[in-house]
Amino acid sequence: MVVSQNRLTIALAGNPNSGKTTVFNALTGARQHVGNYPGVTVERKEGYRRFGDYQLTVVDLPGTYSLTAHSVDELVARNFIVDERPDVVVQVVDASNLERNLYLGTQIMELKVPLVLAFNMSDVADSRGYRFDYERLSALLGAPIVPTVGHKGVGIDDLLRAVVEVASSERPLHEELVHYGRDIEAEINRLGGFLEDEQGLDKYPPRWVAIKLLEGDEEIREKVRRSAVKADRILAGAQAAIGRLQKLYVDPPAVVIAEARYGFISGACEEAVRISTVEARHDMSDRIDTVLTNRALGLPIFLVLMWLVFQLTFTLGAPPMGWIEAFFGWLSELVAGVLPEGYVRSLLADGIIAGVGGVLVFLPNILLLFLAIAFLEDSGYMARAAFIMDRIMHKIGLHGKSFIPLLIGFGCTIPAVMATRMLENRRDRIVTILVSPLMSCGARLPVYVLLSGAFFGPAVAGNVIFSLYILGIVLAVLMGKLFRRYLLPGPSTPFVMELPPYRLPTARGLLIHMWQRGWFYLKKAGTIILAMSVVMWALSTFPRRKELEGQYASRIEAAADEEEVAHLEGELAQKQLELSFAGRIGKGLAHVLKPVGLGEWKIGTALFAGFGAKEIVVSTLGTLYSLGESEGESEALRGALKEDLSPLKAYVFMVFVLIYVPCVASVAVIKRETNSWRWPLFAIGYTTVLAWVVSLVIYQGGVLLGLA
Ligand code: GDP
Ligand code: MG
Repeated sequence: MVVSQNRLTIALAGNPNSGKTTVFNALTGARQHVGNYPGVTVERKEGYRRFGDYQLTVVDLPGTYSLTAHSVDELVARNFIVDERPDVVVQVVDASNLERNLYLGTQIMELKVPLVLAFNMSDVADSRGYRFDYERLSALLGAPIVPTVGHKGVGIDDLLRAVVEVASSERPLHEELVHYGRDIEAEINRLGGFLEDEQGLDKYPPRWVAIKLLEGDEEIREKVRRSAVKADRILAGAQAAIGRLQKLYVDPPAVVIAEARYGFISGACEEAVRISTVEARHDMSDRIDTVLTNRALGLPIFLVLMWLVFQLTFTLGAPPMGWIEAFFGWLSELVAGVLPEGYVRSLLADGIIAGVGGVLVFLPNILLLFLAIAFLEDSGYMARAAFIMDRIMHKIGLHGKSFIPLLIGFGCTIPAVMATRMLENRRDRIVTILVSPLMSCGARLPVYVLLSGAFFGPAVAGNVIFSLYILGIVLAVLMGKLFRRYLLPGPSTPFVMELPPYRLPTARGLLIHMWQRGWFYLKKAGTIILAMSVVMWALSTFPRRKELEGQYASRIEAAADEEEVAHLEGELAQKQLELSFAGRIGKGLAHVLKPVGLGEWKIGTALFAGFGAKEIVVSTLGTLYSLGESEGESEALRGALKEDLSPLKAYVFMVFVLIYVPCVASVAVIKRETNSWRWPLFAIGYTTVLAWVVSLVIYQGGVLLGLA
């Protein structure tokens, strides 16, 4: 008699992979029996163990996340608990994944069965930085908690002690652990009333049956139909309750009930689980991400951030830009004052200093832009931006990862084209390469800054430039879609990318990243651009017209004052330029560009030079206009441009610079990366045609609207 009183049946429940079988083995050793649950092919494992005066039978239940009737495993687990009434249920919890695991726990408690929580994997939880207040958590959850490490047998004896204690105590059971809110609780009580004296259902806790009915559990409905006297009334009552609740919550009650359980769990964890730094960062990241990668807010936040970056770049960039301008103006004057009149002076002052100075002046803008991009990258936001963009990229038929090369394209097309290597799919890759020149690169920025600064007030200049970036993106989207559809059709690969936790970037990291890119720009300024400036100076200086010089020399001699001298010198320079090589090429281009409002030969010449590199458009304009004037800095250039262009034409000019031919270096890289001349030539062709068409639409549209 005494012996039989000391028999206990323990059921082990738990999520798959929580370590249930490991704990089962640690509890029972080799004394096991394997069979099947009646009627189903689910394995039923039983083991035996003596503990103190107790003879224990341990049953390993199938691993489940929940106790709904969605799968055979869940049904077997819950029917075992309901039908065989084990003395204690031990839930093996993966403590490193607590919130998800406790969802099952809340449901076991509603079955009104004594429960012990084995916080298994406590070693993993510990190394991830979780700190549990066991006492507090145990009080909140209404069940004793024992930390265990299954495969090392740690905590197994404590677990057995807790089991025996729970089995022999008269502690009331926490069946109302989760409170589902006034409306649902009212329905649970009403249904509970119907269920009260149903003999056929008396092994089920009425509260649990009521909840299951509200959840629409088919198996319970069937049980009620078969076993309840007032089955019709109960089922009709449940149906009506579901209808009422659905009107209140929109979501079906099953969803609201599940949310309430998770709400309870996260509240309990909030109070009793602390997370040390490493995990806190992940946890914080998750929280930030609920906002930053939100379905509705993600994209607007991204656009606002980008807009802020541009505003910041141009506002903070203005003062140092002024200093650099002043410096090169001074240098140019110094050289002009020291050196004798002639080719060397002209080459130095008008070719080299004006050319390189005209590029260096934009270094502050470019460094600030890259600083902002480095911040977004180092903080972990850029990966989110790719994630947010994946939805959009897929609409164009591109991969979310394509977004990264395209983003780099805002800095420079060359690394952008190289970054497409991370795309596995060749079609994704070629299309990304083809549209990347439409991302407005850093070299185009000087052109925008010069022109929008000259033609639009400081209040709108930033917005004008922003609109160009947007235009580039829109065109990239359209062309990407077109290319993906007709040029390179086929499926693209799905998005898989780890999101790193957010972290505060270090100043050192930011500076290094900013400098690496700034240096890349500088090297270009120092080498290609310098070379191009000299070539352009030569193209615009030769062939020289001696007779023209002679004519003007006598007129300058006879000039009345300084002002007239300057005027005559300017006129001479204009005429010389017009007759130079560059002038002739520019005039040829001007014919083609007339319909788009850019029929001015200097602009044609500058655009021609821009094929070398987009920023050369600025240095060429500087050289072309400064040849007739004493100083070659931007302020003077802006004034000169105002004589040849209107705001509408200036805007079309910028649009053209945005879209037309990728620079020589980009073309070379595209050739290298695609290993064929087909794609770089295609890129040159399509961008030039597109530039002309878009410019035409904007210019003629502007004329029609009376903006000319
Ligand atoms: P079940 O699916 O719940 O039966 O999980 P298993 O018992 O098969 O365990 C899954 C894996 O987790 C196995 O590789 C175990 O060795 C491992 N494991 C079990 N308990 C622990 C533990 O407490 N700590 C650690 N680190 N690993 C464990
Ligand atoms: Mg197992």
